[in-house]
Amino acid sequence: MRHHELPPPTPRTGRRRPVSVAVALAGVCLTAAGCAGDGGPEPGAGPETVSRPASPAHSPTPSARQPSASAGSPSTGATSTAPLPRGPLTGRTVVIDPGHNPGNRDHTREINKQVDIGTGHKECDTTGTATDAGYAEARFTLDVSRRLRTLLEEQGAKVVLTQDGDRAFGPCVDERARIGNKERADAVVSVHADGSAAGNRGFHVILPAAVDGGAADTARIVAPSRELGVRIAGNFARVTGSAPSNYIGGNTALDTRGDLGGLNLSTVPKVFIECGNMRDPEDAALLTDAEWRQKAALGIAEGIGSYLKK
Ligand code: ZN
Repeated sequence: MRHHELPPPTPRTGRRRPVSVAVALAGVCLTAAGCAGDGGPEPGAGPETVSRPASPAHSPTPSARQPSASAGSPSTGATSTAPLPRGPLTGRTVVIDPGHNPGNRDHTREINKQVDIGTGHKECDTTGTATDAGYAEARFTLDVSRRLRTLLEEQGAKVVLTQDGDRAFGPCVDERARIGNKERADAVVSVHADGSAAGNRGFHVILPAAVDGGAADTARIVAPSRELGVRIAGNFARVTGSAPSNYIGGNTALDTRGDLGGLNLSTVPKVFIECGNMRDPEDAALLTDAEWRQKAALGIAEGIGSYLKK
């Protein structure tokens, strides 16, 4: 859905979870339809875009890693502190932005406040969408983001989440962007799922348009963000078997927007990914499946890895 964010800069507490713990939890997650962090159903909130038909084929996951458990440890702008294993991403910093926040629905006044996105003003954040059965986008984004964190940390990357279920609402979109900037992240990915009409299916990656206004100046991130987005799209399609959106991007799986504060205010390479359409029954069946979410996280992780190792 539309992304926005809020004010208070989040404390980046450095909290780290030992990978071993995550792995253990992952096992649990595998069977549970919803790992921690994917909470139960929530009323759907706002709609977003939709996608088209076709059921995503699940291709066997290349590397089926264990689903990382969505460890429920809270942390905002949180990073793990446990010693990271050395790997191909050692020395790299990746900021993961779980779209929305399960608590946004209970803080409409706060999230409806306008924030400056450089080219204009937008709501601090939005509630996000949900499946018809009530599985909230905010739960989906947090679950996939935690799985993604585990996968990247296993490769040695320093990973920071803009929110980890540890705050009542938000952050606002401008703060989400600032977290990536402050970390001088090598790559930032904002995780979402769309809320379009049934029949609209598939995934797409949103790239920053060239914008210049106020605090927004994306001139230097347009090209690297596109490279990052193309690699994520290709790997996401390969690992999940999902098809590019049939309603946005003309089957390229890529869309470019200049109206998102989270992209406009970023000074580091950043993209959004809409993993599927929560309002389409076939896509919803995938998005609510823990094994599929692990594939989604893996596809994104491999795309990021491909970009960072290029
Ligand atoms: Zn969203």
